[in-house]
Amino acid sequence: MYRDPEIAEDIRQSMVAWRRDIHANPETAFEEHRTANVVAHALTLMGLPIHRGLATTGVVATLKHGEGPSIALRADLDALNMQELGSHKPHISTCQGKMHGCGHDGHTAMLLGAAAHLARHKPFRGTVHFVFQPGEENEGGGRVMVEEGLFEQFPADAVYGMHNFPGLPRGRFAIRTGTMTAYLDTFEITVTGKGSHGAMPETGIDSIVVASQLVNALQTIVSRRTGATDSAVVSVTQIHGGDTWNVIPEEVVLRGTVRTLDAGIQDRVQAAMQQICEGTAATHGARVALNYMRGYPGVVNTPKETAAAVAAAASLVGEDKVDTGIPPAMGSEDFAFMLQKRPGAYIAIGAGEGPSDPPVHNPYYDFNDNILPLGAAYWVALVKQQLPVA
Ligand SMILES: [Zn+2]
Ligand SMILES: [Zn+2]
Repeated sequence: MYRDPEIAEDIRQSMVAWRRDIHANPETAFEEHRTANVVAHALTLMGLPIHRGLATTGVVATLKHGEGPSIALRADLDALNMQELGSHKPHISTCQGKMHGCGHDGHTAMLLGAAAHLARHKPFRGTVHFVFQPGEENEGGGRVMVEEGLFEQFPADAVYGMHNFPGLPRGRFAIRTGTMTAYLDTFEITVTGKGSHGAMPETGIDSIVVASQLVNALQTIVSRRTGATDSAVVSVTQIHGGDTWNVIPEEVVLRGTVRTLDAGIQDRVQAAMQQICEGTAATHGARVALNYMRGYPGVVNTPKETAAAVAAAASLVGEDKVDTGIPPAMGSEDFAFMLQKRPGAYIAIGAGEGPSDPPVHNPYYDFNDNILPLGAAYWVALVKQQLPVA
């Protein structure tokens, strides 16, 4: 068992109260006004100067104690557009169709707990920026904060993030150097043929046949053009076209998603998709327009900062409880935009109590309050290690 982290009882209780209050009042991307108020109020009571308004609802607090390096610690504020289930939860969502289904309520509470502890004891020399970002789910609030000058206004030598993993037992951490989460792209392909009578296809160009060939041809990107040890996923997830039995439609729209673990492979997949679209169009005399939209880049942990994160976690739970060799996840995370600007590391904190725990984004999911002290202690350990008292 790991050593019980040194977070005072009143801070533990505050973390549970913040977490459940935020859970009961979920807000989604760039509308986290109440959540930001809760965070700003708590930080102000700790005596920390705060800045509000980056990416609309972002909150940044700064704790400076003497001269030294600076680091940024990041949590996310937003909930998901989904209906919560599970009436046994006393703090169940009071907002129809919105739910903290990813544990960002807990992430926020853990970073607040760390801020409370660090503001009280100041066991470091340097500057800590506590970054609370909106809109992690789908909307890229982390990117918006970076674009609006997060690191110009709050210079940090490194930036760190953390996510709870219900599939990893409580008392454990997991991390890897390099790519930790996938590059997430989406695409829309518009096939324009020539509409015609279903009985006389020779008078038109059949957009449905062209689209069907495209779906198959796109599957060769992974199977025939990507090396066996490289990773990519190409999925067509929507086909839209046609209205009735006897009309060949003028247009068919395909949509889907691409996931990769490496920027070079991402480039190659996009180029192959463009080539297949152009070639298929030429073969049939149709027009095929590809709109390839790059979404979240991969979270890429830098080696030195990953080692710092591992050391901080190991100081709490022991080296054997910190898995440094996990495979990259095909999910995505907008902390990647912060890591494109600063070195840093993103770590998974175990939240699992048993095999029946619901995963994140499940309607029965609830952040595990038992990990609040360990999460806060991880932030504290990281600060003490990276900003040591001279
Ligand atoms: Zn999520
Ligand atoms: Zn999340």
